[in-house]
Amino acid sequence: MGKIIILDEKTANKIAAGEVVERPSSVVKELVENSLDAGATFICVEIRDGGISMIKATDNGSGIAHDDVELAFERHATSKIKNEKDLNCISTLGFRGEALASIAAVSKVQLVTRQPNDASGCLIEIEGGKVVNFHETGCPSGTTITIRDLFYNTPARYKFLKSNSTEAGYVMEMLTKIALGRPDVSFKFINSGKTVFHTPGNNDLISCIFSIYGKEFVNNLIPVSYKNAFAEIKGAVGTPEFSKKNRNYQNFYINTRYIRSKLVAEALEKAYETMLMKHRFPAAILYININPSLVDVNVHPAKLEVRFSNEQEVFRTVYDAVNSAFVSIAANHTFIHNSDDICNNTSDNTSNITPSDNSIATFNENSFGTPQNQFINSADNAKPVNSTIKEDKSNINDVINEQQTLYYESTFSQYNNLNNYIIGGEVFSTYIILYNDSEMLLLDQHAAHERIIYENIKIKYEHGEPMSQYLMSPEILELDMFQYQCAQNQKHFLERLGFNFENFGNNSIVIRAVPAEISNAGIAIQAFKDAVDMLIKEDKIDEDKTKDTLFTIACKAAVKANQKLKSEEIKSLIEQLLKLEKPFTCPHGRPIAIRFGKYEIERKIKRIV
Ligand code: ADP
Ligand code: MG
Repeated sequence: MGKIIILDEKTANKIAAGEVVERPSSVVKELVENSLDAGATFICVEIRDGGISMIKATDNGSGIAHDDVELAFERHATSKIKNEKDLNCISTLGFRGEALASIAAVSKVQLVTRQPNDASGCLIEIEGGKVVNFHETGCPSGTTITIRDLFYNTPARYKFLKSNSTEAGYVMEMLTKIALGRPDVSFKFINSGKTVFHTPGNNDLISCIFSIYGKEFVNNLIPVSYKNAFAEIKGAVGTPEFSKKNRNYQNFYINTRYIRSKLVAEALEKAYETMLMKHRFPAAILYININPSLVDVNVHPAKLEVRFSNEQEVFRTVYDAVNSAFVSIAANHTFIHNSDDICNNTSDNTSNITPSDNSIATFNENSFGTPQNQFINSADNAKPVNSTIKEDKSNINDVINEQQTLYYESTFSQYNNLNNYIIGGEVFSTYIILYNDSEMLLLDQHAAHERIIYENIKIKYEHGEPMSQYLMSPEILELDMFQYQCAQNQKHFLERLGFNFENFGNNSIVIRAVPAEISNAGIAIQAFKDAVDMLIKEDKIDEDKTKDTLFTIACKAAVKANQKLKSEEIKSLIEQLLKLEKPFTCPHGRPIAIRFGKYEIERKIKRIV
């Protein structure tokens, strides 16, 4: 007997639901796109319990005719295309006629709708795909659809949902992407009874950005307006100062459709290449208008990805658009676009980008009145180095043979003792010169200090030792709604890192304590923001994320390049480095020092041939 059966329609619907209806945010996307296709100028989305117990979308669009209401929930029922031919010139967001059927198959749906010219509207209720109620009703014109108990009849799917707050975060993100794409439509988002954002819908991009990302982005915004024979690009990008630790602030639209595109992101980031440090990403809202026949939108079930017929041309156009935006504001703007001035692949030397003295940590000053920076204090109790570095000896010769650039580890392993070196001084206020009879080292003060701090806070974190120091006066920090939500979700983790904070209303928090390793309050606040930006979207913090966050803090806390050190500070730095249990592996694989052998120098200078 054969094992194969033909699935009934209800089952088939549930399978299809898996494609477009994955979680509350995907439901919201479909509902809002339907509202936009219906010409709505106001759309309100309200959720409870991350959208799992309720999603309600209200619009002032065209409504649905009585005769069509039941049909709208049939599979492959759509008003948007009639035949295959129409697929080549899609101007609506939806066209598959699957969303409502898929949603209704896995939840309890109520839809209330009225067309503006009809005297009355109608109400329909569907549970698990079956109509349980359908009658005429009085209601405002437009459509209100309420989804309850998502996946109540599909436990396998329910199981994959994350925590309510994480799901709410996904909904918020999805909605902001759509809202930023349509500044001409007013969007309101309510989460558990609280209004999270409300865009004005006055067709002004800047006020739309303001209501979503807040004033910091608006104050750091560069308008983009560019056209060539291939495409037109409009929108805005953030200045390098408004760069982020993640790509969440990048929004791309093709012919008003929000898309994810690695290609567009790469072109954007290429334009910033000389202005941003590694692991920092520009913010952008870019509307790309292109002949629809050059883009295939029908490659992804949720239509989030597109295929371009000419990828190179898209890359070039985006790159040129962003570059020309920089050029057009360069004359009266302060940020620098010069690859010589700004280090791209060295570590976080922000001083070229924000040349402001008070934003840079000073070694001896401590804004909290607590003990001074740890590596200065510990100059007296440096351990003998021999015991700590022996184990690295095994691979020294490999390194020496393979490359001229030697890592700190091998060099010091070879000599085992700082006393073999003489501190020759410091160049460019950035590199410490050490030398002995046979070689010279250039040690990067920032990289070395970063390593020291990283190791120290990592040990404390792992042992659960307190890391906090209280601020003399608490700092109030205004966050955007993404950062605010993340700070709430990750409060426990952030506290373990040494940050102590409470809500202060309106997406702001009051910070009372910061990690003790950071000796400057301003820098500590920046470190907090960077840490939060890194954790946005994270559900659970794994080992790698913990490491990255600790590293972010260390990087902010470390002495910067271009910062003159006193000789006792230099000595202390080196002794501290050698005291570490594992001083020789830079977390990001960058050398802490480079070596110039005496022999090599003499050959170059032609003393030896
Ligand atoms: P699609 O959007 O691909 O056509 P859906 O299942 O999302 O398929 O919607 C089915 C149909 O229901 C739409 O084609 C549209 O005619 C109607 N519809 C859905 N939501 C709305 C709404 N908010 N306002 C007006 N009509 C709607
Ligand atoms: Mg649709």
